Amino acid sequence: DIGRHVRRMSLAEKEETGTLEKGELVPGSNGRMRLRSSSRPVLLVLGSGWGAHSLIKVVDTELYDVVVVSPRNHFLFTPMLPATAVGTVEFRSLLEPIRTANPCVTYLEAVCEEIDPEAKVAVCTSTFAYDDGRKPQFEIQYDKAVVAVGEQAATFGVPGVREHCCFMKEVSDAVGLRARIAQQFELASLPGTSAAERRAALSFVVVGGGPTGVEFAGTLSDFLREDLRRKYPGLVQHVRVTLLQSAQSILTQFDEGLGRQAMETLTSSGVEVRTGVRVVEVTQREVLLEGGERLPYGVCVWSAGNAPRPLVSQLCSRLPAQSSAAACCGLRPGSKLAVDCFLRVVGARELLALGDCSALLAGGGGGRLPPTAQVAAQQGAYLAHLLNSGHCTGEGGYASPPPYKLVRRNRIQTATDNSAALQWLATAMMGGGARLRVAQQVSDALLSEEAPPWIRDHSQDLAATAAAATEEQQRQTGGNSGSSGSDVLEVRYWERPFEFLNLGIMAYLGSDKALTQVEAFDVISLKLYGAFAYLLWKSVYITKQVSFRNRVLILFDWMKTRVFGRDISLF
Ligand code: FAD
Repeated sequence: DIGRHVRRMSLAEKEETGTLEKGELVPGSNGRMRLRSSSRPVLLVLGSGWGAHSLIKVVDTELYDVVVVSPRNHFLFTPMLPATAVGTVEFRSLLEPIRTANPCVTYLEAVCEEIDPEAKVAVCTSTFAYDDGRKPQFEIQYDKAVVAVGEQAATFGVPGVREHCCFMKEVSDAVGLRARIAQQFELASLPGTSAAERRAALSFVVVGGGPTGVEFAGTLSDFLREDLRRKYPGLVQHVRVTLLQSAQSILTQFDEGLGRQAMETLTSSGVEVRTGVRVVEVTQREVLLEGGERLPYGVCVWSAGNAPRPLVSQLCSRLPAQSSAAACCGLRPGSKLAVDCFLRVVGARELLALGDCSALLAGGGGGRLPPTAQVAAQQGAYLAHLLNSGHCTGEGGYASPPPYKLVRRNRIQTATDNSAALQWLATAMMGGGARLRVAQQVSDALLSEEAPPWIRDHSQDLAATAAAATEEQQRQTGGNSGSSGSDVLEVRYWERPFEFLNLGIMAYLGSDKALTQVEAFDVISLKLYGAFAYLLWKSVYITKQVSFRNRVLILFDWMKTRVFGRDISLF
């Protein structure tokens, strides 16, 4: 597919070679530059994570001028990020530059700060500044936009977290953490460091018992046991790793039994797991727990949950329909963008959202989905196909009819607009034994009392059309109004709504052990723990790499670690 993309020039290249069809960069309001499209519609993609990356790999750049805006010029394979913090794999092995993923997209390294969904304009600010400190700002007039900005680390308002804790979200976090771990060991090795200072320096606190916190604690314990024992033999006795979790168990997304096994594995590899504890403050040297306990630390890693990006909160506040949709999904208003089952943002036109920053409306094909890479990647690929088929327009939400097609007596009839579809529905709903069989959301809606607003809004038209059709049929048949029992009408979506295919969840625990849980199609239920689950974890993650290059690099890193150990030298 990429080969096809390569033939086309990106907007930036066209600008360089003077082959723009229209002036793409024109002065906009407030002295900002405005980016205009050539003859193709502009598809603006915000983000370069799991969702955006899988979308831009598949989207047809013959149909759209794809502009990607993200502060990160690469895709990051997040599941293996904890391993980079201790040097099991190298940072570069987990990255794929956006321009390599699809050379035909225009990539702009910037943060989108604001979207005006009415005017279809996105306001962006570069992450870099000119010599005079001014950061370039520009606006993008889009035809369709996809919001895939993910989420940021949540601090829950706990004082000191932002200032003193390390996070585990981006490569820069893992780089900083690796340097910090190395520094603590060098500090503890210095002559004159007291025993108390040494203990504090080598105390690692991980806050959050979800997959990221557990994987980091497990990988850190591998590193301490396998590498530091050789490099700093005198220090190992002072090292302490503590995992703090506010709930009563860890890895709550897994089966309870697997969660218990995870706890036992961590404990046996030297990690102190403390559940039911709440952090109330983090100072420069101590983590303060509810109840007054103080834990001195050298490194505190915070992975206690996610919060919305400012852009998402801004968009939610601009779209009144979002607050009722949020209530519908049981979401805190402004925390995620509510989308319908075609990933269209509720209350906005030509605006789509996917991945962690979005929430599927209940009943829209899957209910609440977990904030995982698996969901984001599947949504990205789905949306790319929808965009390529050109059926992704209109306003999101139950208020709009979905794109659908109708099947009648095995003859497929298509209805691309509301009135044609209503005509069909009305004809089918005439009495006299006509059987009505409708699929998915439309079926539920028609057959239940809770019809979505677009059906309810047209119920009078529907009744009138049905009455007229009945009358017409009675006239033709001389009063015998029954249509045959074999009259089957099937309403299908024109495009399939998004459906998540759950391929299971995995977590590495350290000591070459992992958890794997696969539950699919109500029949498959696989719960694995231990060395075999670890082998599965390894093979899944190697096959899930986004390119052959990354696969080779990671295999090489794993081999290097086995033979030479991990290297976290500072430079
Ligand atoms: P992201 O991948 O977070 O991408 C968001 C993108 O938007 C980024 O490129 C960001 O730079 C960009 N962005 C942010 N703000 C703006 C803005 N204002 N304008 C433009 N761009 C912006 N999931 C699993 O399924 N399995 C795992 O094992 C797993 N392990 C994980 C381990 C770690 C350490 C972490 C952090 C996450 C893990 N996840 C895992 C979760 C998974 O990474 C996320 O669910 C996934 O990244 C969500 O994809 P996304 O596209 O929604 O957002």
